Amino acid sequence: MICQCIMPDEMSRPLIQGRGEGGSSRHLEATMSDPATPVVGILGTGDFSRSLASRLVASGYQVVVGSRTPKRSVALFPEEAEVASQMEAASQADLVFVAVFPEHHSTLVDLRPALAGKTLVDVSNSLHINQKGPSNAEQLANLFPESSVVKGFNTLSAWTLQVGPRDGSRQVFLCSDSPTAKSSVAQLCRRMGFIPVDMGLLSASLEIENIPLYLFPSWRIPILCTVSLFIFFYLYNATRDVLQPYTTVGKSVFYKLPIETVNVTLPSVALVMLALVYLPGLCAASLQLWSGTKYNRFPNWLDRWLTRRKQFGLCCFLCAVLHAIYSLCLPMRKSARLKLLSTAFKQMKEGKEELWVDEEVWRMELYVSVGIMAFGLLSLLAVTSLPSVANTINWREFTFIQSTLGYCALFMATLHTVLFGWNRAFDPGQYRYYLPPTFLLVLILPLVVLLGRIALFLPCVALRLKQIRRGWERSRHIRFILPDNDNRNGLEDVSNV
Ligand code: NAP
Repeated sequence: MICQCIMPDEMSRPLIQGRGEGGSSRHLEATMSDPATPVVGILGTGDFSRSLASRLVASGYQVVVGSRTPKRSVALFPEEAEVASQMEAASQADLVFVAVFPEHHSTLVDLRPALAGKTLVDVSNSLHINQKGPSNAEQLANLFPESSVVKGFNTLSAWTLQVGPRDGSRQVFLCSDSPTAKSSVAQLCRRMGFIPVDMGLLSASLEIENIPLYLFPSWRIPILCTVSLFIFFYLYNATRDVLQPYTTVGKSVFYKLPIETVNVTLPSVALVMLALVYLPGLCAASLQLWSGTKYNRFPNWLDRWLTRRKQFGLCCFLCAVLHAIYSLCLPMRKSARLKLLSTAFKQMKEGKEELWVDEEVWRMELYVSVGIMAFGLLSLLAVTSLPSVANTINWREFTFIQSTLGYCALFMATLHTVLFGWNRAFDPGQYRYYLPPTFLLVLILPLVVLLGRIALFLPCVALRLKQIRRGWERSRHIRFILPDNDNRNGLEDVSNV
């Protein structure tokens, strides 16, 4: 019986039950429908081997497991699998999975003659990222020069193998110097319900072995940016709104630190991060216009920035979500209720009954409405950046959402901030410690990006950029026609001639 639902901490326990304690290794008559199905061997009887054996058996393969102590391990495997000595397994199998740690690969050298001419699948992972090589798979290939080594399955956990491809990752990265060996492993992979991804020659094994060891490689810079901006704006706001009143008039408003200061910091970070999503695109366009070609490589920093725009956008979205939640919770605070009551009492004492100020009311209505729209657009951008959603729309739809609606979101968020600041930029009382109000600092980058985008819309700039992106080059004599420009039918531009 295959255990269907196990928790990770249960991995130390036998995954497969059902064979009697005293069961010895026995070669079961295969219940194969296809006589051409290869016998699959597995060296090692650990967690990975047990999960793999049960998945292979469930997929209709005849499995023989090689162990140093077959008698001890036999109870851990399904009845349909044979548990034998390493030598017996290596001799019987046509294709052998090496499910032992790479530091123990050398203990298998005695199996060399039995494994000659066969396919060895190296499933091992390293403890640390290895940039220099050789990889475990390349070392295994050196140990077994007469076998064909295929790297693969290392990115699947024993757990994923156990529950099957309906859960967890379905992709299996494969590489090998032998196309035949690779295609037989790919076939086996498909039959088990996974999707083989051909990564090329065995030299790609270093990269495949590093895949499970990376820790959010493309998120590092966006997260660092978000955290740095958060710290900067938090300290800036705390200095202006909390420290300044305390040091100048002795007013203690430290209660603002956990919620109010955080809530003015989060939108600042969100808006700057959103501007940082669109700034590299502008830099790339400016570089192309300046160099008059799209065939010059962008500098490395710009390349990396362009490829991390999604992560920048998602960090911005996280800050916007938190800002929305904090803002909704603001009236729940005791401090807010007490402040409201004391303002009301003060007004009554002074004999003022009318608290309504038209300008303030309008500003607030517009501020909240524009903020909600910006948040809605940001949510749409975040949802369409999910691969499962992005795969359902075509390229034009994707760029419409991410570029056109993205700029709309940036515009709305900028307007939201402008409405928040309103005319306070002209109030000298706002320049505490000679520091400008936070919203002024925050607006600089989004305004630069929006103005830059408007500049790219100017017909002379837009046309030149369009030509460059279709292959026009200033420095070469290239005859060039813009095919999709209806009103300039057959426009012919001979550059630099
Ligand atoms: P494990 O539970 O420690 O099992 C390793 C097995 O190797 C042992 O049960 C042992 O079986 C066998 N072995 C053969 N020669 C050995 C020797 N000289 N010293 C010690 N053991 C020896 O490890 P595992 O978790 O199954 O991992 C096996 C391989 O799969 C590793 O290379 C690992 O990187 C890779 N992998 C594991 C996972 C996972 O989720 N566990 C995921 C991806 C890749 P016998 O005593 O019966 O010979």
